[in-house]
Amino acid sequence: MIDAVIISHFHLDHCGSLPYFTEMCGYNGPVVMTYPTKAVCPILLEDYRKITVERKGETNFFTSQMIKECMKKVIAVNVHQTLKLGEDIEVTAYYAGHVLGAAMFQVKVGSFSCLYTGDYNMTPDRHLGAAQIDKLKVDLLITETTYATTIRDSKRLREREFLNKVHKTVERGGKVLIPVFALGRAQELCILIETYWERMNLGHVPVYFSAGLVEKANLYYKLFINWTNQKIKETFVKHNMFDFKHIKPFERAYADKAGPMVLFATPGMLHAGMSLEVFKKWCDSELNMCILPGYCVAGTVGNKILSGSKRVEIDKKTQVDVKLQVRSLSFSAHADAKGIMQLIQQCEPKNVMLVHGEKGKMQFLKERIKTEFGIPCFDPANGEVLTINLTPSIPIDISRSLIDQHLYIDTHSEPEPKRLKLHHTTQIDALLVMEETSPASSSSSSTPPPPPTIRLLHPKEAESTIKLPEHELRFEVERPMVLMDTEEFWLALANAIPQSHLSKDSQDSGYANNTIFQRKSIRIEPTSSPTRGLRVSWSFQVCIPPFFPQSVQ
Ligand SMILES: [Zn+2]
Repeated sequence: MIDAVIISHFHLDHCGSLPYFTEMCGYNGPVVMTYPTKAVCPILLEDYRKITVERKGETNFFTSQMIKECMKKVIAVNVHQTLKLGEDIEVTAYYAGHVLGAAMFQVKVGSFSCLYTGDYNMTPDRHLGAAQIDKLKVDLLITETTYATTIRDSKRLREREFLNKVHKTVERGGKVLIPVFALGRAQELCILIETYWERMNLGHVPVYFSAGLVEKANLYYKLFINWTNQKIKETFVKHNMFDFKHIKPFERAYADKAGPMVLFATPGMLHAGMSLEVFKKWCDSELNMCILPGYCVAGTVGNKILSGSKRVEIDKKTQVDVKLQVRSLSFSAHADAKGIMQLIQQCEPKNVMLVHGEKGKMQFLKERIKTEFGIPCFDPANGEVLTINLTPSIPIDISRSLIDQHLYIDTHSEPEPKRLKLHHTTQIDALLVMEETSPASSSSSSTPPPPPTIRLLHPKEAESTIKLPEHELRFEVERPMVLMDTEEFWLALANAIPQSHLSKDSQDSGYANNTIFQRKSIRIEPTSSPTRGLRVSWSFQVCIPPFFPQSVQ
């Protein structure tokens, strides 16, 4: 039974099966994601569908119509917005960095709370801010661990490597093709190239981006400007996101021009569109280079050349020889080990679960978390069931007079030595009463009844509140007796009455086993025929200690 589906961001490894789940498996509950994710998700899903159905020939797959139907079911939220799902589930989104619209989600059910990070980035990149989380003290933090053992500096190093590759290629007169998805890396890479071109005085080497990229990116960044970082927010008002000095819009004819150039073109996996068209033209020269995102779906040209294919099929009629150099983009916007530790420190969870990473790296990080924070940490395999022990907190009303009786004056505490305190271990003799709150007569039957209130009452209060008068409980047991021999009689009596109810001085009343019951009477009488025997009955009564309602200053 699944109560709700939460999508953290638009990357396909987080939303790719959503239409399958809602339209083909029949899931009909709520689906929650942020506004930008809701805007971008269907574009990626449609792309994914096209590749799988039209290029790979998969038949049992969701249709465009199904993607539309699926997106209609989505409830969109903003950062810090809390959504109530049904009676007792509360979902709150937190900014995650990573890609436009990415969010971490806190889920609360009763007194239990959990934070699922999705993918996040604890350092701001060139167009988005860093993930932000409050001291939520959740029972469980589920965090991604893509870069569980990597440290931040290596990202800068890889950025430098990327720039060096581009620079070296254009220096020897080659062309660089960078297939990108319209949103995400594209913006970051453009800003990276722009800054480098300025610094290195590379103005004579043209850099272009394909038209589709500008329109889509500008639209989404304009729509969701609040999701970008401070610098973009400040400068976007003055000029648009792609108003670069060195990067200009691309026109089809430019691809045939001689000499070096750099082109950012969509789509990112070389499966269609401008990036594939240009690839066909540039792939037969060793001078040129193609820098692909680290991950390309199987079956795409991007995937084939990344795995080293030297001859690839572009479509049914066209096959090309791949002579150009192929590189992959080895950095992406995930938290590194330092970032993950930082998030744990900020959130202060009671338990941590590691997901979305490599087993070996997760084990390393798990040990680090256990020793540095002293909290339980788990790295379950897919499909493994994990049981985490929690101490639920149940709010209970307790009357002032009942508390007053158990207060003591703390003479040791500073600076107020006379403060009244309640011991953590105070044992309170009281009755636990659960009351169903009756729904208001005017409310319709569709509104759920309010939860029952749980109260601790002094036995005297219980008498009046729940109309339970002082009463006697009587227990009874029958034993057959062969002989009314005195020895056997007393033995039977001893066996008949539960040991726990017998105090040392059996004639005495008083506290036995810390109960508030007092033995009141023991009655012994012979049973009637046909079995000659003995009936022993005894009773206990609620013992009411003196009740002094008093006020405390
Ligand atoms: Zn992601």
